[in-house]
Amino acid sequence: MSSVVEKIESLRNALHEHNHRYYVLDQPTISDYRFDQMLRELQQLEKDYPEFNDQNSPTQRVGGGVTKSFETIAHRFPMYSLSNTYSREELELWEERLQKILGPEAVITYSCELKFDGVSVSLTYENGALIKALTRGDGAQGDAITTNVKTIHTIPLKLKGDYPPFFEIRGEIILPREGFNKMNEERAAKGEPLYMNPRNTASGTLKLQDSSLVAKRPLNCFLYALAGDQLPVNSQFQALGKARLWGFKVPKSAKLVTSINEVFEFIKYWDEKRKSLPYEIDGIVVKVNRFDQQHKLGFTAKAPRWAMAYKYQAERVATILKDVQYQVGRTGAITPVAQLDPIIISGTTVKRASLHNADQIEKLNLRIGDRVFVEKGGEIIPKITAIDSSNRGLEEAKVTFITNCLECGSVLERESGEAQHYCKNETECAPQKIGKIQHFIGRKAMDIEGLGEETVALLYQEGLLNSIADLYRLEKDQILPLERMADKSVSNLIKGIEKSKEKPFAKVLFGLGIRYVGETIAKKLSKRFKSIHALKQASLEHLIETNDIGERIAKSLVNYFSDPINQLTISRLESYGLQLNEVETEQNYHSAYIGKRFVISGVFDQFSREELKKEIESFGGIILSSVSPKTDYLIAGNDMGPSKKIKANQHNVPILNEFEYLILKG
Ligand code: AMP
Ligand code: ZN
Repeated sequence: MSSVVEKIESLRNALHEHNHRYYVLDQPTISDYRFDQMLRELQQLEKDYPEFNDQNSPTQRVGGGVTKSFETIAHRFPMYSLSNTYSREELELWEERLQKILGPEAVITYSCELKFDGVSVSLTYENGALIKALTRGDGAQGDAITTNVKTIHTIPLKLKGDYPPFFEIRGEIILPREGFNKMNEERAAKGEPLYMNPRNTASGTLKLQDSSLVAKRPLNCFLYALAGDQLPVNSQFQALGKARLWGFKVPKSAKLVTSINEVFEFIKYWDEKRKSLPYEIDGIVVKVNRFDQQHKLGFTAKAPRWAMAYKYQAERVATILKDVQYQVGRTGAITPVAQLDPIIISGTTVKRASLHNADQIEKLNLRIGDRVFVEKGGEIIPKITAIDSSNRGLEEAKVTFITNCLECGSVLERESGEAQHYCKNETECAPQKIGKIQHFIGRKAMDIEGLGEETVALLYQEGLLNSIADLYRLEKDQILPLERMADKSVSNLIKGIEKSKEKPFAKVLFGLGIRYVGETIAKKLSKRFKSIHALKQASLEHLIETNDIGERIAKSLVNYFSDPINQLTISRLESYGLQLNEVETEQNYHSAYIGKRFVISGVFDQFSREELKKEIESFGGIILSSVSPKTDYLIAGNDMGPSKKIKANQHNVPILNEFEYLILKG
């Protein structure tokens, strides 16, 4: 028996350590494959010997626990907010106030840190184990989100080094831009409305009941403050250093400075640099470094006197709201879009802003003719953040959300719990029909060369295209007479359509545009069911039993296949020779890649970064985000960041340009 305990313990320790190396240090020393093997071995042992259960085992990271309701618990130390400012003058006045309280002789140093734009969290550790995670709540009490937090890889479940027996640590849970964009791409591919911004999405994720869903979201956590009665440090900067040694992710961007002037240099530096950070920050936090000075300064009712947030001004421009239009998506989701008097924000002309949904319009209490403030933050689509109350449109011009689809007249529906209105008239509503064909030909689906979205719309209007199956019946002579159609381009179009018949089953399945069936789900379904016939015949129960297929997706599939129009489309696609069966492909490892660590920087002419990443991973390589001595190759595209290049040179990491990369690939 004791050997089992030892085995379990040694696996747990090794996995904690490798998790730390991979996620916190970004310097893995074993392959993903080996890591998964060890994790699986541990999972099996824990299943066989439940008596050795550990709430902080690395297996907790995959989630599984469900939080029915989030318990509200008082904070041992209140979580204050921060006083904030937008100006240099106010920061200088703040220093004067500090000096007055601490005495003119006092030498003040400051810890300058990034103000991460996420959700704050307080973590409690007892004897080196994470025992509790609370949201900020109202500052006095927060909600326990412990089970969900355990799935975040950068939060240690077990600490290392000389940590105190009991303490709290505070930080910010964030969703990096890339992960956020990916989630939105998947939403778009599934025809679902997009998430508004990374912060709200992170916050919503932490309140999901099913922690295995949380585990799938690429959340990250940066730590920035210790709280406790007897901390083994006497300054903020030391605290950051210690936390790092105990295993927390503490960004190296924090800087200790000795004057307000240097604080300003830091602010200026990051104002520019923040645009290239992989996550969003909304300012800088300046903290008096020494704890004895912090103690003397104390707190106001709301915030510490010893800290100040300097917030970056999001570029905000005023303009007039001319109209609100409504777009109908491929799945019938209605998105209101504000039409604006054109303005320039951060160098680009903005004429439209997303209003997301009916609630958003109601909240802003919009009227046509309002003078509105438009911001372009981290999100790509600009948004209206406020209206100028001294410059309102007429009361009778109040914007009320439409009740009927402007395209087909159907009454719009809104399901309970959903923010979005839908037009359910899938088979007659023109934008939905066009949208479905556009989705089918899209890059991630059939990727038909020579055919673009506008041409699809044109062919629809001309009566040549009414469903995706019609594509395969198109003839050159039908298209040539249309406006702007040249002989060569029409030949290419026909060739592209012909070629698409070779696309694998998973792409076709994704292309069908079944609600909730995104790229990943389509791949899983094609692997699992192997053919459209098997999938069509699967019962609701059978579908739900399939890994990763929840009830929502299963219902949507059954619904889709039971519709006679869809059945017809599928049998037509089959008769035209599309791939409706899965053909097994072998894993194609490449000897030059196996276990090698790659960092990618910049953009490339012949492939996207995403494609390159996929290729490297499929060949058995490992992708890392920053250069270290252990990096094997830096693949350098155009406009590569200078810091990566400097680091690569420092550590003698070979730098390959696009051309050299192709040679490596052979
Ligand atoms: P505010 O929400 O504007 O009052 O700002 C206070 C919040 O900033 C805190 O509750 C933290 O969640 C967040 N924050 C982000 N980065 C830091 C940091 N480096 N130090 C302290 N607070 C931070
Ligand atoms: Zn409609």
